[in-house]
Amino acid sequence: MKKVILALALGLMAQGAVAKTLNVVASFSVLGDIVAETGGDRVKVTSLVGPDGDPHTFEPGARDSAMLNKADVVVVNGLGLEGWLDRLIKASGFKGVVVVASDGVQTHTLEEDGQTVTDPHAWNSAANGALYARNILAALIKADPQDEKALKTTGEAYITQLQQLDSWAKAQFRPIPPQKRKVLTSHDAFGYFGRAYDVTFLAPQGLSSESEASAQQVASLIKQIKADGVHSWFIENQLDPRLVRQIAAATGAQPGGELYPEALSAKGGEADTYAKAFRHNVTVIVNSMK
Ligand SMILES: [Zn+2]
Repeated sequence: MKKVILALALGLMAQGAVAKTLNVVASFSVLGDIVAETGGDRVKVTSLVGPDGDPHTFEPGARDSAMLNKADVVVVNGLGLEGWLDRLIKASGFKGVVVVASDGVQTHTLEEDGQTVTDPHAWNSAANGALYARNILAALIKADPQDEKALKTTGEAYITQLQQLDSWAKAQFRPIPPQKRKVLTSHDAFGYFGRAYDVTFLAPQGLSSESEASAQQVASLIKQIKADGVHSWFIENQLDPRLVRQIAAATGAQPGGELYPEALSAKGGEADTYAKAFRHNVTVIVNSMK
């Protein structure tokens, strides 16, 4: 018996000697969590834009540059979300692989101020979240091939979890009549969510929280909300709620609570993982339609 334990201990030690911990930097907290769940104990993850932070308007500093410099792998969303990233990567001297988590997503575009813009918020459908995890898993294995087996175990389990979350979300929305599936939020972060679960989202700000709504746009949005009978409105955890609150007040729409479209809550909060944030978003949106 003793011999068996000793052999087991030696085996573990040998495994520990080859296993390495990848130092991964993700551009924002949602992505950071997807990397952490996918890689398990084989990754140490830091997110540039932290909890409750806005990934569109982020202003990186010297600390972020130093963090990137030490990274083995950098994971970004792509699709134009992180406009600040290219300059930061150049400044940091990072020479490794930049993994684009949204690779292979079926994108859609919106017309904004006369321009055609690709919607970057692909992770807000859980099916896309699973695709992100699949891309990340492949990149982690490439960076640390010796840990392929361990990475596959954590990664595949997480991908399955996200696929189940997608089916769960569809089931939650199934009993809701089509005319009730409309909500008002601050900015257009739910395009992929809306397509996946058949919900219409209206918002005063466009695809980036940087865009500003004109008085005329606000007036026509108020008209549309009334005409469409949009019943509820939500604040977003990473944005100032004043504008959406004003619009809601002018229409009689009811507050549905808080959504987490592109930033997790701080550790210990109600949405401190991607899966929890997604489940929360689905739950409060469905509840507002009942
Ligand atoms: Zn956004």
